[in-house]
Amino acid sequence: MTKAGIVKGNTGDWEMVIGLEVHAQVKSHSKLFSGAATEFGAEPNAQVSLVDAAMPGMLPVINERCIEQAVRTGLGLNAEINLRSVFDRKNYFYADLPQGYQISQFLEPIVGKGKIFLDMPDGTTREIGVTRLHLEQDAGKSMHDQSPHYSYIDLNRSGIALMEIVSEPDLRTPEEAGEYMKKLRSIVRYLDTCDGDMEKGSMRCDANVSVRKPGAEYGTRCEIKNINSIRNIIRAIQYEAERQVEVLESGGKIDQETRLFDANTGTTRTMRSKEDAHDYRYFPDPDLYPLVLEKSFVESIRNSLPELPDQKKKRYIEELKLSSYDASVIVSDRAASEYYEALITRHDAKLAANWMTAELFGRLNKLDKTIEESPISAERLAGLLDLIKDNTISGKIAKDVLDIMFESGKDAAAIVEEKGLKQVTDTGAIEKIVDEVLAANPENIAAYKSGKDKMFGFFVGQVMKLSGGKANPGVVNDLLKKKLS
Ligand code: ADP
Ligand code: MG
Repeated sequence: MTKAGIVKGNTGDWEMVIGLEVHAQVKSHSKLFSGAATEFGAEPNAQVSLVDAAMPGMLPVINERCIEQAVRTGLGLNAEINLRSVFDRKNYFYADLPQGYQISQFLEPIVGKGKIFLDMPDGTTREIGVTRLHLEQDAGKSMHDQSPHYSYIDLNRSGIALMEIVSEPDLRTPEEAGEYMKKLRSIVRYLDTCDGDMEKGSMRCDANVSVRKPGAEYGTRCEIKNINSIRNIIRAIQYEAERQVEVLESGGKIDQETRLFDANTGTTRTMRSKEDAHDYRYFPDPDLYPLVLEKSFVESIRNSLPELPDQKKKRYIEELKLSSYDASVIVSDRAASEYYEALITRHDAKLAANWMTAELFGRLNKLDKTIEESPISAERLAGLLDLIKDNTISGKIAKDVLDIMFESGKDAAAIVEEKGLKQVTDTGAIEKIVDEVLAANPENIAAYKSGKDKMFGFFVGQVMKLSGGKANPGVVNDLLKKKLS
């Protein structure tokens, strides 16, 4: 593991080939084909319409908001929007699927080929193909842990709109798969089409993994179902690739199958042999017409897209002159970019970026908090930067003040006042300290005068120390130069 908790590929001369299928829950108040609510955390079966419960004779009615969200997501993934798409029935039996089929899209999805750009930690960019995005219904949930004797079914999730986003098998390491998930999550959050919360199940991932010798044909893949965190996606792929290498190197072959990841043991195990599309007997849902979109509908969504992370990053680098690293870190999270943009209405772009990436994020990481949970608002941090800008405190003292702000929740000016941290710019007071330091160090003065220029730093350091870090460094420098020349 590297320090970011990222597992590097460890499969010797075998190359991993990875494709991800992500189910992203559409952000909308009601379900894909019914008016029932979608809010998370409701009492079981409190949000179920007759359509979701598959009562005989009920008819699905498409929710325009979900269509709009799918198109918006497609545009955000640089993808083709198909003006005509078709809803199919995907037939299978499961206790939490009362219809006996899921309404999905098979041969004609609403969104076609697109691409996602990954900003790798080493500064390079990788382009990953998106095969398609289609809309489908979610199933209900079986609850096996409520009673020793019975299983229960909660249909609140039944019929909620999902976008299934399928990648090309373009990913080559677990680390890239993790970056892909982060970027996808960031994009849907900017677009406001999915909340991206994997803990709540709003984004779930199936990882397809195979291994091959570089340049060889793709190997047989296994699909690991329903992984619920980025960390587990990385662990599952790593384990699965190593398992496949072991099988192949000992002369065995890989069976195409569906596997489950066990987060406790870090291993995958067989769930079922892989079904093929024909097992589902897909056919167009006779209750629904093909979905035909007006060009103007798509264009009006295109025109209302927000600035997305790739564009924002480019602008931060070109116009605000941020480093590629700072720009990536700030834009990767929509809330962080909003925080940053609030800061730079009052402050220099680079100063604000430094304070955010080095100081604020460092402290938030230690507390395991997100920017949304930050105890220091953008307004408060801007207040601290004000004090640096007008020379009330030095940058060094400001870091201590920020620590105290984190602990106490007080604002910067109050802390500086209370603790007497104001920078001393009064030349007379500083001169007294300078004289004291010079008087105490005659040998060092002699050394400096005989050409040891580095000694100047020693004097500055001593004066700063005696002043408790509060002397204005500019004034200290000027005075020392004058007295030592
Ligand atoms: P299905 O719908 O049956 O799961 P798809 O053809 O839609 O099958 O592929 C699903 C995923 O598998 C895609 O993300 C694709 O990139 C990935 N994939 C296809 N072939 C391979 C392979 N040989 N190794 C790894 N992943 C693969
Ligand atoms: Mg699949």
